[in-house]
Amino acid sequence: MRELNVSEITKAVKELCIKANRVLPEDMKECIRCGASAERSPVGKGVFDDILANLDAAEAETLPICQDTGMAVVFIELGQDVHLVGGDLNDAVNKGVHDGYVDGLLRKSVVGDPLERVNTNDNTPAVLHLSIVQGEKVKITVAPKGFGSENMSQLKMMTPAVTKDEIVDWVVNVCAQAGSNPCPPIVIGVGIGGDFEQCAYLAKKALCRNVSQRNPKPLYAELEAVMLEKINKLGIGPQGFGGTQTCLAVNIEQAPTHIAGLPVSVNVGCHVTRHASAEI
Ligand code: SF4
Repeated sequence: MRELNVSEITKAVKELCIKANRVLPEDMKECIRCGASAERSPVGKGVFDDILANLDAAEAETLPICQDTGMAVVFIELGQDVHLVGGDLNDAVNKGVHDGYVDGLLRKSVVGDPLERVNTNDNTPAVLHLSIVQGEKVKITVAPKGFGSENMSQLKMMTPAVTKDEIVDWVVNVCAQAGSNPCPPIVIGVGIGGDFEQCAYLAKKALCRNVSQRNPKPLYAELEAVMLEKINKLGIGPQGFGGTQTCLAVNIEQAPTHIAGLPVSVNVGCHVTRHASAEI
């Protein structure tokens, strides 16, 4: 059994909040560069140039990529042979978010109650997804989520009678309804299966997958390709100014489900689909 002080988790979460807000993962940057070369609309190409220049400026000047520095979504894969000492895990994660957003001068975007709407002033609490895995390591991923894109996300409880074409059409229609609101070019995380809440979780998790990696199951990899093609045919284009590159990638994650159901969810990610990970 390995002992790990939760202060190490606080430190890692702090660094990841800052890093994720300043530097996009290399696969996302490459995907944006590919989108820029593929874009056919001159205005769309100009938007891509601005997006790429903004990424370079954020990295060079140590500034956030976007003014909406997001709600801190934290995934922790905790090895079952780790004994956490020195405090409470939730408190440690939230202290990391506090330190990252305050010391990193990131915008505080969280209200403590959804109806009273008073800003917590340190971007806490985090949305924490904890899973217990084998081993004695702790993997932490911080995915700051802007709500321009989050607000465009949807979940539908479909039935097993639904066809694959109908699933594709629904996902494409979610993107059509989103229009320019999620700051396209977008990345789409799709969850298929599970129950109501697991389906939404799958879509969020899908947004943290490398955008150059297709689903390992050919059935889902094919669906990803079909959805991507159809979303790009919508012509919404970069920042909604029209163009061929509305969507950069579609990532699907699937899970077993009930015989009577087929939940499908779409978590919309913007061109700033951010995440950073560390293992301790
Ligand atoms: S949707 Fe993304 S790019 Fe648009 S404001 Fe929010 S975080 Fe920024």
